[in-house]
Amino acid sequence: MKIDVVSIFPEYLAGLQLSLIGKAVDQGLLDLTVHDLRDFTFDRHNTVDDSPYGGGAGMVMKAEPWALALENILDEPKAAGAGTPQKSILIVPSPAGPVFNQRIAEELSEAEHLVFACGRYEGIDQRVIDWSAEHFDLRPMSIGDYVLNGGEVASMVMIEAVSRLVPGVIGNPESLTEESHEDGLLEYPIYTKPASWRGRDVPDILLSGNHGAIARWRRDRRLELTAEVRPDLLAELQDLDKHDRAVVE
Ligand code: SAM
Repeated sequence: MKIDVVSIFPEYLAGLQLSLIGKAVDQGLLDLTVHDLRDFTFDRHNTVDDSPYGGGAGMVMKAEPWALALENILDEPKAAGAGTPQKSILIVPSPAGPVFNQRIAEELSEAEHLVFACGRYEGIDQRVIDWSAEHFDLRPMSIGDYVLNGGEVASMVMIEAVSRLVPGVIGNPESLTEESHEDGLLEYPIYTKPASWRGRDVPDILLSGNHGAIARWRRDRRLELTAEVRPDLLAELQDLDKHDRAVVE
């Protein structure tokens, strides 16, 4: 998968060089490039922002540097032919976008090319968003109902959630299958050695070696936890059997 990020603070994205994502880049599983938006400006001060029309607080990111950057990085503008499948998906982090979740991460993990456009200040001139919607496969995306200072952290959140689903990035693919949000339930509680710690014991069932009973215990805990902290997730699940329903009621 190819990932491009455009930001006025490229160094913010340095964290992606670490750990599993960094390793995946080294192994060639991910092709990650971070671009400086200021490289697409031509004035002496490399200006990327200006005051808002209509007045109001803060600054707005100017349209032209963004258009030049995106034209340079995204291939196959829609103008090439209506209905032509697009290789690139343009993600614009915004608190005003639909909320990113595991389903969207799964969908994006199958894309060939993701481009993240990190806004700063009050955000990007609306005409860039409207123009991008005409030319590219545009997805405004929020990571939650709160406001950050810029799109860099939001992009890193999405890049990490998407990349770990790309085949080969996580060494053991089985570790992805029972995770929180994978099937709509939260994860069961997990434990490691020692079996007894500060007077707290690991549940006996996990030491029993009875794999069927352990699987049932784990599913029951997932159901209980989800019912307790995220009843909204449980309400969306269609495939609860009689036993599951008894656990959550
Ligand atoms: N004026 C904007 C508004 O009220 O919707 C907020 C701008 S915010 C200070 C600057 C940038 O941070 C945004 O353009 C976006 O890139 C990013 N950002 C802030 N909160 C975000 C969130 N919850 N999800 C994704 N990106 C966010």
